[in-house]
Amino acid sequence: MRVNVSSHDLKVLDHKHHLHPFTDHGALGVDERRVITRADGVWLWDSDGNRLLDGMAGLWCVNVGHGRQEIGEAVRAQMSELSYYNTFFKTTHPPVIELSEMIADLAPDHMNMVFYGGSGSDANDTIFRLVRYYWDLMGKPEKKTIIARKNAYHGSTVAGASLGGMGGMHEQGDLPISGIHHIAQPYWFGEGMQSGMSEDEFGIWAARELARAIDEIGEDKIGAFIAEPIQGAGGVIIPPTTYWPEVSRILEERDILFVSDEVICGFGRTGEWFGADTYGTKPDLMAIAKGMTSGYLPMGGVIVSDRVADVLHEKGGEFYHGYTYSGHPAACAAAIANLTIMKREKLVDSVRDQIGPYFRERWLGLGDHPMVGEARMKGLVGALELIPDKKDLMKRFGDVGKVGTIARDHSFANGLVMRAVRDSLIISPPLTITEEETDELIARAHKTLDDAW
Ligand code: PLP
Repeated sequence: MRVNVSSHDLKVLDHKHHLHPFTDHGALGVDERRVITRADGVWLWDSDGNRLLDGMAGLWCVNVGHGRQEIGEAVRAQMSELSYYNTFFKTTHPPVIELSEMIADLAPDHMNMVFYGGSGSDANDTIFRLVRYYWDLMGKPEKKTIIARKNAYHGSTVAGASLGGMGGMHEQGDLPISGIHHIAQPYWFGEGMQSGMSEDEFGIWAARELARAIDEIGEDKIGAFIAEPIQGAGGVIIPPTTYWPEVSRILEERDILFVSDEVICGFGRTGEWFGADTYGTKPDLMAIAKGMTSGYLPMGGVIVSDRVADVLHEKGGEFYHGYTYSGHPAACAAAIANLTIMKREKLVDSVRDQIGPYFRERWLGLGDHPMVGEARMKGLVGALELIPDKKDLMKRFGDVGKVGTIARDHSFANGLVMRAVRDSLIISPPLTITEEETDELIARAHKTLDDAW
C-alpha cells in the first residue's frame, strides 16, 4: 500500500485507472468515491477519517466481522506450506479435503460433496452445466430448460446473469441465453398487495407459477428450478410463509432438480446454516460463496446432493468443467478458519435466538416512521420499503430508485452503510454485531429516515 498519498490523490488515481463493478462512471465524480482503508468488527474507516458502521457486511459476506487475525494467520501458514496447487488430474490437497468434510458436515444430511470455484457467479455457471450433464447421464438430454425467477440475482457471468431475472442486466449483452424461463417472484409488498389476495394466498399463487410453467413447457424438458431462499440483491424479498412449503410440494411431485442459491443466505444469514434449513426445502444443488470465507479470500462452490453425486460416480465419464483456482489452498484455509470461528462463537445460534430477534425487533420498530411502508427482516437480513404516504402504501415516490439512492446517501452521511434497491434500503450486518452496536445502527437509520423525509 502506498503511504503518504492524500485522500484526494487516491481518488484521482482511482478515477483514472479503476473501472468499478456496477457503477455509472459518467456519474461518479472524483471526490464522490469513498476509499475504505481499514476495518475492524462492524466498523470501517475511510481515507477522509470517517468511521462508518458496516450495515452490509461488505457485500453481504463478512459474516464473522472484519479484522479477524486468526483467518489471516491461517492463510499465511497455508501459503508457507503450499500456496497453490490445483485439484485437476487426480490431485488434491489437505485443506480442500478438510474443508469439504467440514461443509458436508454443516450441509443437509443428503448433501455430501463440494465442487469449488472462485465466486457465486461461477458457482451458478457450474450449476448450469452440471444440471445439463446430470440429465445427459440420466439419458434425458432434452431436460435442458432451467426455471428461474424474475428479479432474482444469480451473478454477473453470462450464465449467472441469464439465470438472474434482472431486466437491466438482460438488456446488456442480449441475455438471457436460451433454455432459461423466468417466473414470478413472491414479492408481497411490491406486487402481491395490489393483487387483492391475502399474503398467504399470494404465496401459494406465486409458488404455483412454478407448477404452471412446468406444465406449459413440459416436465420432460425441464432440468431444474433455481431460487434464492430470500431474494437478496432483488430487494430482500422475504417470501410469504406459504411459499416454500407449496414449492416443496410441487417439486416432490416433479422429476426436476432443485437448486438453492445460498450465496447470501448460506452460512448463517437466515438463522440456520443454510436458507434451505430455515425454509425446510430439499435442494439437489446449492450455490455457495460469500459467508463461506466471510469474504477474507474469494471462494465459491456448489454443494452436491447424493442424488446427483451418485449418478456422477455410477455413470462415470468426465465433467469437462473446472477452474484453475478450484479449491485454492489459501482460500480453503480462510474458509476453514472462518467456519471454525462461526462454530466456536455459535454465531448461527445467535442469529436464530439472540442477536437476530433483538435486531429484528429494533428494525421492525423503524416501520413506525412516516416514510416506511414495510420493515421486514429474517435472521440478519432485512429491508425498509420507502413510501410517501402511510395511508396509501401502494403509492410510490416519483421515479423508481430515486428515493432509495437519496436515502442511501443520507445513510452514508450518518456513518451507516446501507444499500439501496429501488425504493428500499437494505441491511445485512456482520453476524457478530452486538446489541449496543445494533442500537447505534438503529439510531443512525432513524436519523437517515428523518433526513430523507
Ligand atoms: N447469487 C446470489 C444469490 C448473490 O447474491 C450473488 C452476489 O451477490 C451471486 C450469486 C454472485 O456472487 P459473486 O458476486 O460472488 O459472483
